Amino acid sequence: MREQHATERHVPVLIVGGSLSGLSAALFLAVQGVECLLVEQRPSTSVHPRARLVTARSMELFRSAGIEEAVRKAGDPGPIGFVVADTLADEHYVPTGDHHDETLDISPTGMRLCDQQQLEPLVLGRARELGAQVSFGTRFEGLVQDPDGVTATLGTADGSASWTVRCDYLLAADGIRSPVREALGISRHGPGLLGRSVSAIFDADLEPVLRGRRAMAVIVRKAGAFLFARGNSEARMWQLGFPLHEGIDLSPEGLRERTQELVRVAADAPELEVTVHSAMAWESEALVADSFRSGRVFLVGDSAHAMPPTGGFGGNTGVQDGHNLAWKIAAVRAGTADEALLDTYDAERRPVADFTVQETLARIGQSSAQSRATVQLGYCYPSLLAGVRGKDGADEAAVEEGSVTENPHEPTGRPGTRAPHVALDHEGRRLSTLDLFGGGFVLLTGARGQAWRSAVDGAECEVEVRTVVGPGEHTAAQELVYTDVDGTFLSSYRIGPHGAVLVRPDGFIGWRTSQECSGAGERLGEAVRSLVGR
Ligand SMILES: Cc1cc2nc3c(=O)[nH]c(=O)nc-3n(C[C@H](O)[C@H](O)[C@H](O)COP(=O)(O)OP(=O)(O)OC[C@H]3O[C@@H](n4cnc5c(N)ncnc54)[C@H](O)[C@@H]3O)c2cc1C
Repeated sequence: MREQHATERHVPVLIVGGSLSGLSAALFLAVQGVECLLVEQRPSTSVHPRARLVTARSMELFRSAGIEEAVRKAGDPGPIGFVVADTLADEHYVPTGDHHDETLDISPTGMRLCDQQQLEPLVLGRARELGAQVSFGTRFEGLVQDPDGVTATLGTADGSASWTVRCDYLLAADGIRSPVREALGISRHGPGLLGRSVSAIFDADLEPVLRGRRAMAVIVRKAGAFLFARGNSEARMWQLGFPLHEGIDLSPEGLRERTQELVRVAADAPELEVTVHSAMAWESEALVADSFRSGRVFLVGDSAHAMPPTGGFGGNTGVQDGHNLAWKIAAVRAGTADEALLDTYDAERRPVADFTVQETLARIGQSSAQSRATVQLGYCYPSLLAGVRGKDGADEAAVEEGSVTENPHEPTGRPGTRAPHVALDHEGRRLSTLDLFGGGFVLLTGARGQAWRSAVDGAECEVEVRTVVGPGEHTAAQELVYTDVDGTFLSSYRIGPHGAVLVRPDGFIGWRTSQECSGAGERLGEAVRSLVGR
């Protein structure tokens, strides 16, 4: 008999799916002080390594949530590039693709290699520490929504009991096959299935053929396979990735034998002892949902955008989704934003997902148009401008219409772009402009931005002011003052000494004025109101 609980519990946000995207969304909601319950059908976080590359943007977001150092420690310092060889025993490995982290001078952190099964427990631990509730072994079974909320039916993973939970918003982080997306009938667009592959974890003594050489992955031509170095130097694991051709025996025994055979071909060592720990078959797809929102339900991560692993952007895009949405839900719940703000999630994130999928496809053909730094840090939100333009007229030169990226090495400071990293000093402590964001809206001004600082008092909106002064420059500002260590603040944000930049809680520029202007308080108030959907 199936046990049914009649009492219905209420949570502000229910997250379905406890892998990288769901856990990150829970973390960012918890950072914003929003109570949430995450349900995951599996008994624990991921056990099989999938994502390894954590982009500089994800690292920045994890830094804002207090786990940058933990991720850095758990991860692997590199190297980050791929090499090609006929077999692992070859004299020379030929580098291919990007081998450098081009984000180190434009980010306070930089990208990192950290396997998904090592990363997820760190995200989970911090989310729980900040108050998120996470329930493993709990399955989402269905939902009904009305104008006031969503009622979700949940059950134990073994099907022995079920109950309902009422929530204001539901986040579907339930992966490529997303039962929530299917239940809502949200269609997807894109090329669809690209291929089937196997990812196998094994042990073998590869040192005699590798001879101390390290790469993030070796493309081994004779085996038609990829060898990935997983884990870190203290706990190294090997992973073999190979295409799943017609006729391959998919049973555990069949996959084990195929893996052993290919590792021996790759190592050019027919007698090599190979112990296979696990083998997972997976499908590579490129599909983006036609809408990331349906009523009070939001698609997050792979449920919204499936993409091949080329470039290592899939999981990272899911991390960014949750970050984009968390502050908006917090603001709506706090009554400082209109419900309309939640529409901007789809308007902002869907074009970025479409763009990122195109980049992963281009990388399969080795014909990518954009640098890895641009995909990581240069994505922007042109739609953000629509609400601001015409209302304040302060900055017409925002992100080009239709353009989803800009080169992060040449930041423009335009509304819709990521607020650039500038090194700061505050009372002897080194930090980044990025460390100033995350709470409410922040107005950055230069030493002579007095008019804007005064304007905040008359703006009738919650804005924190931060003043950035050049080395040796002085200001009468009462507010928190930071020293622009390298003297690049004004040029990075492209404002004059009397200008100001309004930055959203997610670190994206919402509004900018390069000079002082009349009616500053009114203009600032108008800008904030338009940025929160009012
Ligand atoms: C070989 C490989 C290498 C990759 N490398 C990278 C990389 O380097 N960088 C990168 O960014 N990405 C990479 N990716 C992609 C990355 O792994 C995925 O994008 C990421 O796992 C997506 O996370 P997610 O949480 O959105 O979805 P998933 O990881 O699919 O998680 C969805 C979760 O929802 C749960 N769920 C589903 N249905 C229910 C239900 N009814 N009730 C409760 N729970 C449910 C599932 O159990 C699952 O845990 C790689 C992928 C592969 C396969």
